Amino acid sequence: MALLVDSRSGTTIESFERALLHPSHMRGLCVPQSLPQVDFSTYLPLGYVQATHALFQTLEINLEPALLDHALACYSKFEAIAPLHALCGFKTPVYVQELLHGPTLAFKDMALQPFGILFSQLAQQRQEKYLIMVATSGDTGPATLASFANLPNTRVCCLYPARGTSLIQALQMQTMDAPNLKVLGLEGNFDDAQSTLKTLLHDEAFQAHLAQKGLHLSVANSINFGRVVFQIIYHIWGYLDLVRMGVVSYGDPIKIMVPSGNFGNALGAFYAKQMGLPVEKISVVSNVNDVLTEFFNTGVYDLKARRLQKSHSPAMDILVSSNIERLLYALFGPARTQECMQELQTQRRYALTFSELQSLQAHFESFSCNDAHCLSTIARIYRDHHYLVDPHTATALYAYEHLESHTPCVVVSTASWSKFAQSTLLALCQEESTDDAQALVKLAKLGIHPPACIHELLDKPRIHQQTCALTELSSHIDAWLETL
Ligand SMILES: *Cc1c(COP(=O)(O)O)cnc(C)c1O
Repeated sequence: MALLVDSRSGTTIESFERALLHPSHMRGLCVPQSLPQVDFSTYLPLGYVQATHALFQTLEINLEPALLDHALACYSKFEAIAPLHALCGFKTPVYVQELLHGPTLAFKDMALQPFGILFSQLAQQRQEKYLIMVATSGDTGPATLASFANLPNTRVCCLYPARGTSLIQALQMQTMDAPNLKVLGLEGNFDDAQSTLKTLLHDEAFQAHLAQKGLHLSVANSINFGRVVFQIIYHIWGYLDLVRMGVVSYGDPIKIMVPSGNFGNALGAFYAKQMGLPVEKISVVSNVNDVLTEFFNTGVYDLKARRLQKSHSPAMDILVSSNIERLLYALFGPARTQECMQELQTQRRYALTFSELQSLQAHFESFSCNDAHCLSTIARIYRDHHYLVDPHTATALYAYEHLESHTPCVVVSTASWSKFAQSTLLALCQEESTDDAQALVKLAKLGIHPPACIHELLDKPRIHQQTCALTELSSHIDAWLETL
């Protein structure tokens, strides 16, 4: 990569370390100016950690190897690292890539686990202290908190939509017990939480106030480039697994199907493709909030007539998908990215030209899946394959089933069903329940049991129960910082 730049101005960002610690000190987002071509077959003999080292080296990211090693040691806590699960009986082979074996049972762990360790180590080396903000639609919050708990030189403030997450996701945040963590429920949806956060990140008075306390401000959302690299490697790994299993020979094309919200996961697949991973198409799957599907199918990104709708796949209930900006940069360069982002802000809409749409569609196709289809897919896959997927993964499997594909597919599985017990029960038994806890009891009677860590959550004290209005946020944060 050699060079990291700002997606809107094209100006150079001095280092990966800087991008990771200070992601909001730029106009747009940190992106690689260009990507190297890589023969990933040379990664075939490597293990996951070695392959990640190799990718960092290829990208010329200068981190001390010992530092990266330390960060990657987090994967030893995982039950498994991105294994493929074959689903048989379809016309083309399909493999579900389970990115859900980290401590919070969602794919966010894949990047946030090493990210937290790296962040804290770099902060310690520089003898700096950070307040790290994070806005979550449900899974980023728990994964960030689990990663940063008790890590030196860091404090984390996590914002979630007070009524926008599942009970299990809420408990994963509210029960986190570490002195450097603060969790706040916001009155609003995820887009509100994300835009409040963006405002705060550019609020000079707030930053000055933090500076007085000796704190730098940072952010752990997927706008942080430090997470992006860790989200490239598992797509490469999935492909190499197919080669190792003899499903494809190196060089044969595959499809990667990704349930998408903020487009971080699919962006990782795109970067892998840009570097030469033999991917024919990346399928971007959305739920009823199908702004991405409209964009990939028509070239128009249009927020005007849209209101966010709550769905069974809350991590995809997003209209302003941040990482699309990185895609625009990669395909069309900084000036056009600036233009589109500006239009989105002022007109709530932008449109690609026909030839731009063609270059977009050379890499992507897109589908959407509504709640009814999502739930029936969960039931069907469970009945036919005795395999239980979460509602996000189900949207991508639905898309797979409706695709006329002759190419082997990897469907990315982004969370454990047990984080969405209520939706799971509804899907399997058409039965409503008051909350996830009740749903888990009913599912247990069917012989369906969640991992132990989910059970334990239900008995833990709820330490963080505070909610606040969007306008009160900075005063709540101030009050918390005073107590430290
Ligand atoms: C975050 C998340 C997604 C969406 O991923 P993006 O990178 O934001 O597109 C999908 N499913 C689950 C379970 C998630 O937590």
